Amino acid sequence: MIPYGRQSISEDDVRAVVEVLRSDFLTQGPVIPAFERAVAEYCGAWHSVAVNSATSALHLACLALDVGPGDYVWTSPITFVASANCALYCGASVDFVDIDPATYNLSVECLAEKLHQAELRGCLPKVVIPVHLCGLSCDMEPIYRLSKQYGFKIIEDASHAIGGKYRGEAVGNCRYSDITVFSFHPVKIITTGEGGMALTNDAQLAKRMALLRSHGITREHEDMTHEADGPWYYQQIALGFNYRMTDMQAALGLSQLNRLDMFVNRRHELAEIYKLHLTGLPVNWQLQAHDCRSSLHLFVIRLQLSLIGTSHLEVFRQLRSASIGVNLHYIPVHLQPFYQNKGFQQGDYPEAEKYYAEAITLPIYPDLLDAQVLQIVEVLRGCLQ
Ligand SMILES: *Cc1c(COP(=O)(O)O)cnc(C)c1O
Repeated sequence: MIPYGRQSISEDDVRAVVEVLRSDFLTQGPVIPAFERAVAEYCGAWHSVAVNSATSALHLACLALDVGPGDYVWTSPITFVASANCALYCGASVDFVDIDPATYNLSVECLAEKLHQAELRGCLPKVVIPVHLCGLSCDMEPIYRLSKQYGFKIIEDASHAIGGKYRGEAVGNCRYSDITVFSFHPVKIITTGEGGMALTNDAQLAKRMALLRSHGITREHEDMTHEADGPWYYQQIALGFNYRMTDMQAALGLSQLNRLDMFVNRRHELAEIYKLHLTGLPVNWQLQAHDCRSSLHLFVIRLQLSLIGTSHLEVFRQLRSASIGVNLHYIPVHLQPFYQNKGFQQGDYPEAEKYYAEAITLPIYPDLLDAQVLQIVEVLRGCLQ
């Protein structure tokens, strides 16, 4: 089976991890801050906090922004469940903004309209979480302007998008957001096995997230309520978690970061081959906004169902039975039973639901061969005839 995505591991990556295994620190050592600095520098952000997953980073980001009971957090229905769950962890409520049918990202027009309505009803969101689907940045500048008009904070869920650009600058620089979150799961652009990172230009937010990453415990004297009892002393000043990344993971991430641009370039080569050979078939793909460079984490096609004599399900099944590990990113979050139990239902977000009825994720990852792309397109061509 050709998977839809997978990691690319070099001998340098292996050596970097082994070096840590032979060193003094497997966790809480020097490689973690080195990885944090390298990612922050790559993205042009001031601060970064490495954690054990993007899910943890989203949770810490919400906590740092004081999301709690009575608050609303808005995100896109076409995302992984973690983008919404983070609000529920904090006791807040979730709501969704429908997607743009061409970019598959949260629609800025729908957001503006929903904000207008929410203001009238007195239930504006505390935080909006735009998700850069497939690695394509949302149109952040107008979202940022809306955040100033209506007074909400922004967490970019850039789990797909490290290595991508928006208006010529790296995703993650937080020019138009309070916090940006990356995932380093093996299917993502670079990997640490499991892992994630939160970036911000706000020193207070970074400090808060770093505190909550490690039990809410501080060893900084200025943060303590009184003088230390002795050199062993630490204080718990908040209810935190163990969301730490290990040094093995950070070493893998640091080594992978050297190949980030190469990975993204290779993904673009593969996408160009797909587009060249898919042209003329009854499928659409994500509009690449001219002011963005996607990291191309996913290559999603949408079937033009009115032009084909078969169903979405049948095309998907045939691709799988031809050993092509297609997938579907994502089932609209509001249609998950857990969210339907909160009152969401079919029909709430028509564009997201239409997308779900048509979308198929084709394989894309740096080690995929040109010939495999051609093979995938030929199988797909057969399915669509
Ligand atoms: C993968 C992913 C996450 C969660 O990442 P983990 O590192 O696996 O916790 C969150 N949001 C989106 C959009 C993702 O794709």
